[in-house]
Amino acid sequence: MRIGIFGGTFDPIHVGHLAAAVNAKAGAHLDKVLMVVANIPWQKEGLRKVQPAAERLALVRAAVSGVEGLEASDIEIKRGGESYTIDTVLEIRKQFPNDELFLIIGADVASELDTWERADDLADLVTLVIVNRPGSVRPSNLGERWSYLEVEVPSLDISSTDLRARAIEGRPLDYLIPSAAIDYIRQHKLYVPGEE
Ligand code: ATP
Ligand code: MG
Repeated sequence: MRIGIFGGTFDPIHVGHLAAAVNAKAGAHLDKVLMVVANIPWQKEGLRKVQPAAERLALVRAAVSGVEGLEASDIEIKRGGESYTIDTVLEIRKQFPNDELFLIIGADVASELDTWERADDLADLVTLVIVNRPGSVRPSNLGERWSYLEVEVPSLDISSTDLRARAIEGRPLDYLIPSAAIDYIRQHKLYVPGEE
């Protein structure tokens, strides 16, 4: 199998993530894509309030339910602590020793890769699938360390940062987040004023 790993804080998940995931799956001929919810995203820690991992996981579950080939993964939440992609990939490698692993990332994240924990080890284990993201260009020297392919996805200028602001200010989330996930946000009173 060709397994895609799409990690994120998903705070909250939005259709930019989902369109990227399904199109990366199709474009890179992946059999499935694991949407891996970060437990503690070390890059974002201390900068703002991140919703509890269990809530972000519930949103991802609601968003991918019924979508063929997309799976919510709690592997980083079960492991606990700070989430390093290399640890996740090593764990998935153990579960799927004979399968090929692909790490799906947006162009913005591609520029940060070299700051990641044990990047050389990670580069030995995965092929990157880089998807375009409005406002970001992928670095030109990626090939020096990484094997990668690029998949063109619909350019959606959508971010969780904007969606958190929308929710807090009472502006519409419709068509930017799947309706099942919006229902969860409302029912559980996530992203309410005072939390930013
Ligand atoms: P935040 O604004 O809080 O950083 P985000 O929208 O960037 O949230 P993340 O959870 O940080 O979402 O991103 C997870 C992954 O999804 C990253 O690889 C990122 O590049 C990718 N991604 C997020 N939004 C898009 C989008 N609109 N198009 C393509 N890729 C995206
Ligand atoms: Mg981001």
